[in-house]
Amino acid sequence: MGQSGKVIIFSAPSGSGKTTLVKHLLGCDLGLEFSISATSRAPRGDEQDGRDYYFLSSEEFRERVLKGDFIEWEEVYSGSMYGTLRAEVERIWSEGKTVIFDMDVVGGLNLKSLYQEDALAIFVMPPSMEELERRLRGRKTDDEDKIRQRLAKARKELGRSDRFDHILLNNELEMAKKEAEERVRQFLGK
Ligand code: 5GP
Repeated sequence: MGQSGKVIIFSAPSGSGKTTLVKHLLGCDLGLEFSISATSRAPRGDEQDGRDYYFLSSEEFRERVLKGDFIEWEEVYSGSMYGTLRAEVERIWSEGKTVIFDMDVVGGLNLKSLYQEDALAIFVMPPSMEELERRLRGRKTDDEDKIRQRLAKARKELGRSDRFDHILLNNELEMAKKEAEERVRQFLGK
């Protein structure tokens, strides 16, 4: 298999702002490329196949699990599977780049145990549960049931934050962006 390299993992409860931070880092001159995950859930809003996710049917997803195509996968929400394709990571490394993941907490910790010292795992901490709820409602992409599922999951995830290399508080966005960039530069020696 191809050469190996380093990985950056950003994990957080959904609504913490990790995607905004990951997008910021991708725009910095750090040699990062986003690992596009595969999912069996339907596209939301203006999401596109091959850009936001590889959208697979549940059958395709299961077949590829059996073939061993994933380095990690999880049923994040009941009926919705998400996973990282081995080929995606190898493609990015073969370009001499560092892989950056935007991942839920369980997936992030699985990747950290897989890559160990070749991984920098950052937990993005929302200012409070109240603020997280406000942000989830503000996005207007999920119905009440989904929002409740996401909040219940977030409570569990906060309890696992101490297993990450760093906890990054996302209270003030500009400061969080700066800190994220500094941590990654330090890790990559750039
Ligand atoms: P969403 O449906 O909001 O796009 O994502 C739901 C959750 O799945 C998020 O917490 C997201 O980080 C997580 N997720 C996205 N891709 C992957 C993946 O490849 N593996 C795992 N384990 N979780 C993922």
